[in-house]
Amino acid sequence: MFDNLSERLGGILDRLTGRGALSEADVDAAMREVRRALLEADVSLDVVRSFIDRVREQAIGATVVKSVTPGQMVVKIVHDELVATLGADGEGGIDLQAVPPVAIMMVGLQGSGKTTTTAKLARRLTQRDKRKVLMASLDVYRPAAMEQLAVLGRDLDIQTLPIVEGQKPAEIAKRALSAAKLGGYDVVLLDTAGRTTLDEEMMSEAIEIKAIAQPHEVLLVADALTGQDAVNLARSFNERVGLTGIALTRVDGDGRGGAALSMRAVTGKPIKLIGTGEKTDALEDFHPSRIAGRILGMGDVVSLVERAAANIDAEKAARTAERMRKGQFDLTDMREQLIQMTNMGGLSGLMGMMPGIAKMKNQIASAGLDDRVVKRQIAVIDSMTRQERKNPDLLKASRKKRIAAGAGLKVEEVNKVLKMHRNMADMMKAMGSGKRGPMAGIAQA
Ligand code: GDP
Repeated sequence: MFDNLSERLGGILDRLTGRGALSEADVDAAMREVRRALLEADVSLDVVRSFIDRVREQAIGATVVKSVTPGQMVVKIVHDELVATLGADGEGGIDLQAVPPVAIMMVGLQGSGKTTTTAKLARRLTQRDKRKVLMASLDVYRPAAMEQLAVLGRDLDIQTLPIVEGQKPAEIAKRALSAAKLGGYDVVLLDTAGRTTLDEEMMSEAIEIKAIAQPHEVLLVADALTGQDAVNLARSFNERVGLTGIALTRVDGDGRGGAALSMRAVTGKPIKLIGTGEKTDALEDFHPSRIAGRILGMGDVVSLVERAAANIDAEKAARTAERMRKGQFDLTDMREQLIQMTNMGGLSGLMGMMPGIAKMKNQIASAGLDDRVVKRQIAVIDSMTRQERKNPDLLKASRKKRIAAGAGLKVEEVNKVLKMHRNMADMMKAMGSGKRGPMAGIAQA
């Protein structure tokens, strides 16, 4: 997919050498390439436009973190926006959380790979997820369709609904559902009939089947190679029938990949599965970040920027640690610690990250130290003057009253923060002996 976007961007981005913030001219030059590459990849114009607007907005003025180039920074921003456009990682799973038998309805045009994808999905649900699956073909129009599914079922050792001549699709759907119920199946896959083109008959039939089967998932099977046609198909199906997701087939032969990017943006529905070959094991989950990485071909750049950004925090932390060691831990340092703590996902996040901290969990909980408390503590420090933060001994009753009022809290809260600071500062000094972590000070406050 998007084979040449990375090369093209590479050329432009290498020329960006400014430091500090990204300039408008630099960003615009890069965006021209991105725009051209996306259009050539058959991404629809609307999608390209709004994509570029969002990237531009984030990129102009963005600070280039130390030890990466401006070009690398742009790549990271483009990458993150690609991921956002393709959908969140993890939203693509097939949802089986319902009372069995869970019905999954497959819709799409003839030749899109609907029957093959039905078999692929059945295989995965059976072999990987250990579900008991029944497949039923509702395609009464294409002569060999039902037999094709039956053959696939026999190969995979997965049950298919027996073929009864002369039944209508709606009747077959009803029969499939009751057979699934009676047979104790977990999942019933309904392979509906396609037509060669998008027509009214196919839509109304799909609506009828949906009303009967009340499927938990309605998946549109669409051929990636058909590009914009697949996107229009997805839009129509979603508006008329209502989809829960998309299975994109023939991704193995798709050098451009524009359909993937447009589909999610146009329908708002996630791509849940991708078909990457003719065999029944050629089915993969759709991972937006993996696809975005493939589109840009610059996965290493993205992780480089992520690491560089993380290092900045690490440098700050090292400086604080050094000050602590020297016994210079003041209220500004404490504020820094509290902020870092909230950045790292609050106390609950920290607990998982710091060795030994889990043991103190109860202690911390009993001290009532949740994330709201941390925010209040930061507010208290924020209403102190610089002098006061440096030298808490200045804080006599009248100053405490002023600070409390400034933070909209009681004097008691100010005292708590001061006590916590004393505990922490003591701990910092004692840390050389390595007996207790700095969090012990917090817990005692
Ligand atoms: P249906 O008419 O929509 O049911 O389409 P079929 O399931 O019969 O598939 C049509 C053709 O596409 C068959 O030859 C399949 O083997 C092929 N096919 C389906 N999915 C894929 C895929 O992901 N990659 C490739 N390369 N071929 C596929």
